Amino acid sequence: MKMSRMGAKPEKTVSKESESINHQLLVQAGFVRQLMAGVYTYLPMGLMVLRKISQVVREEMDKIEGEEILMPMLHPAEIWKKSGGWDSVHVLFKLKSRTDKEYALGQSQEEVVTPLMKEFIHSYKDLPRATYHIQWKFRDELRAKSGILRGREFLMKDMYSWHESQEDFDSYYEKVKAAYIEVFKRLGLDAKVTEASGGAFTEKVSYEFEVLTDAGEANILYCEACEFCVNVDDIHTNAEGDLCPKCGGSKLKPAKAAEVGNVFDLGQKYSKAFEMNVTGKNGENIFPIMGCYGIGISRTMGVIVEKFHDDKGIVWPKSVAPFLVHLVDLQQKEKAGEVYNSLKKAGVEVLWDDREGVTAGEKFADADLIGCPVRMVISQRSLDKGGVEVKMRQSSESEIISAEKIVDFLKNV
Ligand code: ATP
Ligand code: MG
Repeated sequence: MKMSRMGAKPEKTVSKESESINHQLLVQAGFVRQLMAGVYTYLPMGLMVLRKISQVVREEMDKIEGEEILMPMLHPAEIWKKSGGWDSVHVLFKLKSRTDKEYALGQSQEEVVTPLMKEFIHSYKDLPRATYHIQWKFRDELRAKSGILRGREFLMKDMYSWHESQEDFDSYYEKVKAAYIEVFKRLGLDAKVTEASGGAFTEKVSYEFEVLTDAGEANILYCEACEFCVNVDDIHTNAEGDLCPKCGGSKLKPAKAAEVGNVFDLGQKYSKAFEMNVTGKNGENIFPIMGCYGIGISRTMGVIVEKFHDDKGIVWPKSVAPFLVHLVDLQQKEKAGEVYNSLKKAGVEVLWDDREGVTAGEKFADADLIGCPVRMVISQRSLDKGGVEVKMRQSSESEIISAEKIVDFLKNV
């Protein structure tokens, strides 16, 4: 992409709309714009990051045989009344049509996916099944002050699964937990598998995937010697300073964290509410055990910014960076154009700062603000030295690489 053609250019000043770091950096660098509190437009680079996160999630869900579909955001009121959510889910946005028909905006999808899958699951032979989608969700959140960490409209991956028995559910539950750990690892995040209560759904323990950050709203206790971690907002059996109940090797430490995903055992709540009865092995009627598994795609993008930035800007992990290379051209349009074209031909994602009338200092500051992993500078000086000056976003050292060797060099970044 050529920066001269981009609508949103990096700004010199910080947005005053919010105190939140992810909001400030994402707005200033030109990834998002806020329409109102909790509602954002994703500009080209922001959309690229959302898509990259979505793709990592998609690949890992496909590996555990999740089937991707796309369900609607506009729901008839009836399905929410049937499950009881119409009156009990306080964040549900409700609307009326001009003919007085009632609707809800999807805040989650159990009410849509259960009757849908009922059409396809008739016998134990059709089980297990897992289906997911990546879709915008709407929630009437009271406080939407943490940038894209808490939206009133936000992108979520939500998967649902159905099982013949508790054992089968339990074994799939473990697979999803492992897939989630892999997702967050690929995104550069250390997400702690955290015990929490099942919330509105069930008395059973659920698991949240929590990333330590002061920008998060969850309060957790974790052990530094093992992976034990609990959410203390609803689990009161552990306290700060207690010895870890799992390994006994360390005292529990408190921290703020952001929940990037969670997994729930829904039991038979929805299969019963929507009369999803299925023929079991001995001809009996069974209600499948259901699980639901969420990942906050847009929140994860915000958490990545909270975790990976410095005083100059964002430092994107390679797996989600909008571009691998930020090419800065200092009055070397022709040579830079050649390098740009050869990178594109080799399939390298590259942002070319081809703007005229912008100083070298400003171009460098913008490269740091946007935060692509590799910065390449083409100037008279770099050409005199034999090529392109290459620097990693986090490093202060640069090296000169000849134009012909750049693609090879990038393969090892
Ligand atoms: P929270 O406790 O943060 O409100 P939740 O328990 O309501 O989250 P779920 O309903 O299970 O979360 O949603 C699944 C995932 O979607 C969460 O783990 C989180 O990453 C993300 N998420 C939930 N609410 C929001 C929101 N308002 N804005 C952005 N992401 C959200
Ligand atoms: Mg919530």
